[in-house]
Amino acid sequence: MTNEPTSRLPGFYKQSLAERLDTVAARAGLNSEQRAALGRVGGLSADQADHMIENVVGLHALPLGVAANFVVNGREVLVPMAIEEPSVVAGASFMARLARAGGGFFAHVTEPHMIGQMQILDVDDVHSARLRLLEQKAQLLDLANQVDPVLIKFGGGARDLEVRLIAESPIGPFLVAHLIYDTRDAMGANAVNTACETLAPAIEQICGGRVHLRILSNLADRRLARARCAIPAAELAFDDYTGERVRDGIVEAYAFAAADPYRAATHNKGIMNGVDAVVIATGNDWRAIEAGAHAYAARSGRYTSLSTWAVDGEGRLAGTLEMPMAVGIIGGATKVHPTAQAALKVMGVTTARALAEIIVSVGLAQNLAALRALATEGIQRGHMTLHARQVAIAAGASGALIEQVAGRLVAEKTVRIDRAEAILAELRPDA
Ligand code: NAD
Repeated sequence: MTNEPTSRLPGFYKQSLAERLDTVAARAGLNSEQRAALGRVGGLSADQADHMIENVVGLHALPLGVAANFVVNGREVLVPMAIEEPSVVAGASFMARLARAGGGFFAHVTEPHMIGQMQILDVDDVHSARLRLLEQKAQLLDLANQVDPVLIKFGGGARDLEVRLIAESPIGPFLVAHLIYDTRDAMGANAVNTACETLAPAIEQICGGRVHLRILSNLADRRLARARCAIPAAELAFDDYTGERVRDGIVEAYAFAAADPYRAATHNKGIMNGVDAVVIATGNDWRAIEAGAHAYAARSGRYTSLSTWAVDGEGRLAGTLEMPMAVGIIGGATKVHPTAQAALKVMGVTTARALAEIIVSVGLAQNLAALRALATEGIQRGHMTLHARQVAIAAGASGALIEQVAGRLVAEKTVRIDRAEAILAELRPDA
């Protein structure tokens, strides 16, 4: 353990929004600009947004929450999460608290190697063309390394060239060259795409064919993030549920996802609730992460769970998660969006590696939150309490009425907008 301040924030959820912001800002040592970027004002100006995408007419805001209790590789971390769905931030915080009893989350990443693809068509003989390309690998890597001197300076660059034969396709056999490219602290799409476009003429010359597509693969299976945790069974006990019952129920629930794609899709969606929320909070490309995750889940030819859950030798519930994690802290919106910068500061993250380690840990925590609820009292009880607030707001409640209406909906076990409107009319007869 380091001597950093703890990520335990008892009573945080009961504080007002302004108090929570103070707590996080003080703990992370945010300056006034970073504080404002996290806070209600929101970080992005319309002018900045106008330079980010096309045809801008405004901004679209999401709630930004902070998950407490995380310990990742012995380091206490508060985790900013941007998400519209209730229960996610609470679930992550709760499971991170349980995981502390087993030392928190242990995470690591592979080298940040991205794959750039070049589709090679119209070669006379695919087999000899493949070998001719491999013979020229050193020259091709040298050429790729001339593209981005900044990336080279930071220790990145071309690492390998592989050539695959696609034996069967609607247009017959063709070759695909994979450029393996180390993108360091960047997600790397731009560097990889530029390198592929640069290599294309040389590749055409070597194999006499035509390079068609030149683009990064989002199946970033050379850039994996892995996390594990082990939770003593006693930590899992609640109400009438013993720890062993909860633990075994979670393992049974995992078995369902491991064996059945219909269940695995929802199981992995639960993981992505946590992953995406941090990816979005840090300005990263969540479509890229989603694409990579689901393609990786189907890598055996059958879609399955990204995580595993088992009982370890000490009777603890042991979880693992492994998935592609092409996130950066340089480039794209990560540097441009002020809230993304403040989010990194809150986590104390200065490398893409450290960010990926936190994100995969949050994914595992989120998976546990869903499995624990599903394997015991069902997902709706906890979810509905939070959902009821949204329904109350949708029905027109504001201020103190939100909690009053939500409380009645939950007590009646009828969390529906028509009922919320009726309760609101009762509480506010003159409205
Ligand atoms: P970028 O090009 O904005 O920034 C990366 C560059 O920053 C590097 O190439 C390097 O020159 C420089 N750099 C400085 N310090 C660095 C360091 N320490 N480590 C690494 N690089 C450093 O961003 P990017 O990461 O290449 O691209 C990300 C963007 O590309 C995202 O916005 C994404 O949405 C978009 N994109 C994605 C896809 C896809 O996923 N298929 C395709 C195209 C574009």
